[in-house]
Amino acid sequence: MRKAAIIMSGICLIPLLIACGNPPEAVTAADFFAMDTYISLKACGRDAEAAVSEARDHIYTLEHTFSVTDETSDVWQINHAGGQPVNVSGDTVSVIRTALAMNRESGGAFSISLYPVLRAWGFTTGSYRIPQDSEIRDLLRHTDDTRIAVSDSTVAVPADMQLDLGAIAKGYAGDAVMEIMKRHRIDSAIVNLGGNVQALGSRPDGTAWTVGITDPFAPDSLIGTVAVRDKAVITSGHYERYFIGEDGRRYWHILDPADGRPADNGLASVTVIGVSGTRCDALSTALFAEGTQRAVEHWRESGNFEMILVTSDGGILLTEGIADDYTAKSDIPYGVVKRHEEQ
Ligand code: AMP
Ligand code: MG
Repeated sequence: MRKAAIIMSGICLIPLLIACGNPPEAVTAADFFAMDTYISLKACGRDAEAAVSEARDHIYTLEHTFSVTDETSDVWQINHAGGQPVNVSGDTVSVIRTALAMNRESGGAFSISLYPVLRAWGFTTGSYRIPQDSEIRDLLRHTDDTRIAVSDSTVAVPADMQLDLGAIAKGYAGDAVMEIMKRHRIDSAIVNLGGNVQALGSRPDGTAWTVGITDPFAPDSLIGTVAVRDKAVITSGHYERYFIGEDGRRYWHILDPADGRPADNGLASVTVIGVSGTRCDALSTALFAEGTQRAVEHWRESGNFEMILVTSDGGILLTEGIADDYTAKSDIPYGVVKRHEEQ
């Protein structure tokens, strides 16, 4: 029955012909499109097929919950409630609470209330345009995360505001997948949500997972790889969604809430490595908007994540906690940022 349903939905779970563990167990993989991106799941263990199947179904559920366009989603309901509190799922409460905490932690650089401005640029539909300064200024009056009210089961936003969870939802989904894997006693798994990678344990052969870091100036190449166990490796970059304006300039999808324009504060990409996918996803967007200097200060103050910055002029900076796990794949020399500033 389940196989039939899976085939009908155009996706298959692939029990790979490789074994893992001792005694040998099957590796199960699934590749599909959800949350606006290509997703691939891989798990090794006796219960891998059930785990991958449940994880994929759960990603579809979260996609639906967090969709801005699906009229039955939590986010759509919140955005169209005319300012009234809306009963929402625990997932929505949790992800919005983390987002609001990141808004405070980033000094406002991370903001889930930018949706009206993102729409004006066409990032929500692909009908790109460069809005007038006055239009952006007017729309920015309707963006203020501090006006979002969250209780244990409801969310309310003022009638003139709308939310978008695109900067954090994939990390949240990755964490949920890891929990499902653990519940099925899987100890080796990896999920890739459009370049956001989360690894459980190590590879089936016991070595660390290796995650490639895309070169933002040549997205088919890598600047390097990082070796990780039980970590999320999440990137925000100016190459992920952008258009070239009539003026020949590149306009990308991460906005600086201070001026409603693509954040251009010295960074081409930010990769965050840490334990929580939700936090790493929010952080990667936040740090990109903050820019190089504030990102380094943020890392020094925080201490529970590592990062790889590629600057707009092509430089590479790693924080010291990830330097030993990094293997360069390009000739560009990289700098290591130390916890304490050297005199
Ligand atoms: P990510 O790829 O995780 O960095 O998320 C980028 C997406 O987050 C964009 O496509 C927008 O939907 C949304 N976004 C853009 N700028 C911001 C920002 N400063 N804070 C939060 N979300 C943003
Ligand atoms: Mg993000």
